[in-house]
Order: sequence, then structure tokens, then C-alpha cells
Amino acid sequence: MENQTSNFIKDTMIKDLESGKHQKIVTRFPPEPNGYLHIGHAKSIIINFGLADEFNGLTNLRFDDTNPLKEDIEFVNSIKEDVKWLGFEWDNLFFASDYFEEMYNRAVLLIEKGLAYVDDLSAEEIREYRGTLTEPGKNSPYRDRSIEENLELFKKMRAGEFDNGQKVLRAKIDMSSPNINLRDPVIYRISHVTHHNTGDKWCIYPMYAFAHPLEDAIEGVTHSICTIEFEDQRPLYNWVVEQCEMESTPQQIEFGRLNVTNTVMSKRKLKQLVEEGFVDGWDDPRMPTISGMRRKGFTPESIRAFVKETGVHKGSGAVDSQMLEHYVREDLKLKVPRTMGIINPLKVVITNYPEGQIELLDAEINPENPDMGMRKIPFSREIYIEKDDFMENPPKKYFRLFPGNEVRLKHAYFIKCEEVIKDANGEVVELRCTYDPETKSGTGFTGRKVKGTIHWVEATHAVPAEFRLYEPLILETKEEKEEEVKTSFLDHVNPNSLEVLQGFVEPNMRESRPQDKFQFFRHGYFNVDPKDTTVDKLVFNRIVSLKSSFKL
Ligand code: ATP
Ligand code: MG
Repeated sequence: MENQTSNFIKDTMIKDLESGKHQKIVTRFPPEPNGYLHIGHAKSIIINFGLADEFNGLTNLRFDDTNPLKEDIEFVNSIKEDVKWLGFEWDNLFFASDYFEEMYNRAVLLIEKGLAYVDDLSAEEIREYRGTLTEPGKNSPYRDRSIEENLELFKKMRAGEFDNGQKVLRAKIDMSSPNINLRDPVIYRISHVTHHNTGDKWCIYPMYAFAHPLEDAIEGVTHSICTIEFEDQRPLYNWVVEQCEMESTPQQIEFGRLNVTNTVMSKRKLKQLVEEGFVDGWDDPRMPTISGMRRKGFTPESIRAFVKETGVHKGSGAVDSQMLEHYVREDLKLKVPRTMGIINPLKVVITNYPEGQIELLDAEINPENPDMGMRKIPFSREIYIEKDDFMENPPKKYFRLFPGNEVRLKHAYFIKCEEVIKDANGEVVELRCTYDPETKSGTGFTGRKVKGTIHWVEATHAVPAEFRLYEPLILETKEEKEEEVKTSFLDHVNPNSLEVLQGFVEPNMRESRPQDKFQFFRHGYFNVDPKDTTVDKLVFNRIVSLKSSFKL
């Protein structure tokens, strides 16, 4: 796997190995199984797995499954598949829920040390008592309960003697700390919910801020890499590790989240797009999920190259979505076959071509990569061309087909438009052309020149195909801000993000398999849709068009 360019996380690891602080680097990727992974997660995966690999260390895939209300085994499975597909193998697969007993015992230890208490305030009261950035908080009236009473109450919380929200366990730190995270954070809550892993064994669940440092320490993680929003939580992270008397002391290191223009990147919003029917599932090719990108036709190589280019830093500006497209073009350019597909067909009859004759023309599979060899393309009296490649009354400098004009058919002959056939509504439904046998491609004909080259597909053997063309799902370009009003992004959903067209592809495409990728002449790169392709109909998702104004 490609190494990462130098960055502050890598530098810390080098220093820690050189100083002997650690013998082995241990990282983890800790998704909460409450949705599908997106391209932002890919960045976290690449940093965690990539850096550990570079130093011959270990990486755990750990499901942070401490909030059963939102979690599901479907998400666990998709996350595993996505991590593997991106090209990474975990050394251990862990579930935070496997540590519930140990976490409980550590909470008991805090109570015994006088560092945690059971609070009866409601969630709202706790918020009121917490104070603000400018005002200190107030102590809860329950803060001074005796250790014995707290132990007793916490045991009863576990035993299911209270309802949701009736009591919480809080760390006893400092209600006037300038860091609000240290104002007696809640570390356990009651939630009578069945857990996908532990069933009904528990009705109290640890909060993220308490659970996460313990999970890292239990696993011997050396560098706990997370996104920048957790910077203010670092003092609490360290407090938990220290006061719970964990043997191993992981170091939390934060980096800036990946944001991409025209993209929302939070599971909550992506879930909303799925549930409210804006898209057709988590793996809709318009989604920035790994599964959506895979289905659209992105490759793991292109995603890794993109993420590498975005670098590792503390800031989190939005990266241009065209950069992602740039990398997939780069990756596919030499790898995939070139072919011709007609996405908006217009029939052409070549009147002077012998009826019933089929000729096989030679073409390179990929002219930029001669090693891929040659292919045969049938040609006959009837072909399809693109509707857009004909105009009855063209403007100046239109070099494609119009009455009386001659163009080159890619890999074949020159044809000249002789007659336009229309239906009762005046729609052009067919063209009659003539061809010149002297002009066959590859024979070195130099007699005369034409300015336009158009693509085509032989009509009698053409394979019907559906083409799905995509535009960005989100029209806003400004960065997504977490504090934004919850639903505002829905106003930016592009109503025209999907266009479906019915056309034809070359007969040799009949053999294509789901996820096969091609470059269609002039239209761009396409992927055979793995879900909707049937024996009767090929469905092609456009990955990206050919042209880009993007400059690195
Ligand atoms: P979301 O807000 O999309 O739900 P999350 O951070 O809550 O994301 P987790 O499942 O908790 O999702 O994330 C697993 C890991 O992926 C975390 O370490 C998190 O920091 C990281 N991560 C999530 N989003 C991004 C992003 N946009 N850029 C980089 N890393 C990310
Ligand atoms: Mg989350």
C-alpha cells in the first residue's frame, strides 16, 4: 500500500518509536454501527490502517456499539465489507460491547474513589446546571451522596430498577472548569433497549466520552486518532484513563475532518436522504458512502489516491469534489477498455452498403495501453448514432452530421447525410446516408479530410442498455457546518441529480459482468450496475465524464 506523506501524526509515531515510549504502534478504526461508511470515514481508515502498516504495527476494527437505539447488525456487516474493499485487513475485530463488564467495574472504581455519583436531575436540569462558556456551572443537589449510597444506586440502575432518564452516573470533576466537558460529564445512562450484541443483558450504557478512552486503553491502542471536534474532550479522555487506573495510556491525536464540496457528510444526514426517499438506499450511486461510490464505479485505488492528496492536518476546509473525479479518471485511463455506446439513439441506414453484409472492423481495446490488444466491431448497413450528433439546421462550426455533410465514423468509414426521415410530428426518426468504401479506417486513406468524428453501434447486433447519468446530489458549495439548522441541507438537494436514458452498446458488451468498467467514447467512464443489471438489460452508471476543468 502507498505510504503517507509526512504529517504530524506520522511524526509523533516516529518520535514515540525512537524514544522507546512504544515498541509497536497500535491504532484502531472505531465506527459506530449506526449507518454506512462515507468518504470521510475512508480518510480515517486510511490514516489508521495506513500508518500502522507503515510501522509494522496493528490496527483493530472496533465497533463502538454503546448506543443500541441507533445501531444495527446490517451496519456492522456493511462496514466490514467497506473496510476490506478499501484494501485493509484488521488485526483484531472488537466490539466495545464486549467490554461492558469491565467498563462497569471501572465506573464502580470511580465511585469507590469518590469520583463518580448517581444524579437524579433530568437531562434538562443537568443542561441548566452546566453553565455556559462564560458562567460556571452549579453543583447538583445529589453531588454529595455518600460512596455507599452511590454504589447501591448504581447497582440498582444496572438491575433495571429505574426507568430511562430517571438517574445517570456522572463523573465528579469540576463544575466550574473552563472546559465544559469537565463539568461532571454523564458517564452512564439508563436505556431499556435490546442491544444487537448483548441482547437484554444491560439496561445501562456507558457514554462515548467515558467508553472511548477505556476501549482504547483496554486494547492497548497507542495512538487514538480522531477528528478535531474531540480536541476539547482530550482532558476528559486523559482523566478517564488515569482515574480508572488503566494500565495502558493511549494518546489522543486529532486531525481535521474531510469535507467535500456538493456533499453532505454525516450519517445522520445521509440517513435522512435514505429514509425520506431522496435516494434509493445507502448504496445509491449519488451517495458519498463507500458502498454508493463502489456502485457508481469508483475504485479503492482512486479513493486512496484522493485521500492521500487531501493530506493530514488540523484544518478542515472542503475539498473540491472534482478532485475525486480527477483521481478516478487517472486510475481508469489505462485500465479499462474503450468502447462505443449510444445513449440517445438515432437510426442511420447506409443506402449503398450491401444488404445483409456484416463486416468486422478492427479497433484497439485501449489506444493508450496497446497491451490490452484488439477487438472486433461489427459494421453493417444499419447503425445507431447519437441524436446529438445530428442537426438539421446547424450553426456555424458544427462539424458533425447535417444534410449534405460528411463525417468519419470512428473505426469505420466516412458517411454523408443524404436524406432526413421524419415522423408525423416532424421528429427526425432516421437518416439515410451513403458511405465511401475507400475511406475505411486504418487503410491510410488521405484523399480528403473531414472535420467531425462520431461514434456509432451496429444496429442489428446492438445490445440494449440503460445509462444512468448523475449530477451532484447537493447543490450548495459552501462547507457543511454541523451547527447548521438540522434540515436546511434538504433545501439544497438537486432535483435533477439522476437522468436515465435508454440506448445501445456494442455486441461484445453482452458478456459484461456487474462492476465491469468501460470508457465509452465521448461519454466518459461507466460501471455495470451490480443491482439492477439483468440478463435482458445492462445498466451502466456513469462514474465520471471525460472532460474536466479541474487542475491539481
Ligand atoms: P458521522 O458524523 O458521519 O456520523 P462519526 O464521526 O459520528 O461520523 P463514527 O462512526 O463515530 O462516525 O466515526 C468513525 C471514525 O471516523 C471516527 O474516528 C471519526 O472521527 C472518523 N470520521 C468520521 N467522519 C469523518 C470525516 N468526515 N473525516 C475524517 N474522519 C471522519
Ligand atoms: Mg457518530
